This record gives sequence, C-alpha cells and structure tokens, in this order.
Amino acid sequence: MSQDCIFCKIIAGDIPATLLYQDDDIIAFNDISPQAPTHILVIPQKHITGPAALTEADQALMGKLVEKGTELAAEVGLDDGYRLVMNNGEKAGQTVFHLHLHVLGGRVMTWPPG
Ligand code: 5GP
Ligand code: ZN
Repeated sequence: MSQDCIFCKIIAGDIPATLLYQDDDIIAFNDISPQAPTHILVIPQKHITGPAALTEADQALMGKLVEKGTELAAEVGLDDGYRLVMNNGEKAGQTVFHLHLHVLGGRVMTWPPG
C-alpha cells in the first residue's frame, strides 16, 4: 500500500466506493466522476504506478485486468461496444498513479480521443 494513494485507500476500505468485483489480485468499482453512462475502473490490489511500471512478472495480472474488464462490460450489457483505456503519465491525462483500466460505454464514442 502507498500511503498517499487514493486507490490504495479504496482497497483498504478507508474511502468508500461502489465495488463491482473483488478477489485477491484485483478490484473493480464505479468511477466517481463517470465520463459515460457506464464507467468502471479495474485495478490491481498491488500498488503499481501505471502501465510503464509493469514488469514481465505482471503479465498474468495485466491479462486478468483486461479479462475482468470485458466480463464486467458484458455483465452490464455493453454488447454493442465499449472502450478500454489506460492513461500513462500526466500528459495523457493520468491523475491517479495506481494502475487502472477504464471501462467506458453506454454512449457512442468518438475517435481520436481528446
Ligand atoms: P486517470 O485520469 O488517472 O486515468 O483516472 C483516474 C480516475 O479515477 C478518474 O476517472 C477519476 O474520476 C477517478 N477517481 C478519482 N478519485 C476517485 C475516488 O475517490 N473514487 C472513485 N470511485 N474514483 C475516483
Ligand atoms: Zn495505490
């Protein structure tokens, strides 16, 4: 756990969140400021600062994050499309430095992203 990390505090139960899934490796919860009708965050229990900090040892964990993201998307009925996003670094819009996968859906998405 990282002391100043808001997502580590959610994992510890110190900050409330609407949990959608939890196991020993990952948790999923609703984003507090949804950018689409469905906006889920899937994060590792382990504090990893972002995609660039992943190592070879995290490959299975990363696969699990994506698989669970797609499972949750199907569960909430996003059959006609959704977006999986990981921001890496401030310039890309990363604001929380604990790795997270955004699952966004329920509206038409545009490309390129802003
Ligand atoms: P980033 O900008 O780093 O890719 O995404 C961070 C996300 O975390 C944002 O979409 C933001 O709304 C969400 N977020 C920040 N603080 C909290 C919080 O305390 N609770 C929840 N559920 N989401 C949060
Ligand atoms: Zn953390």
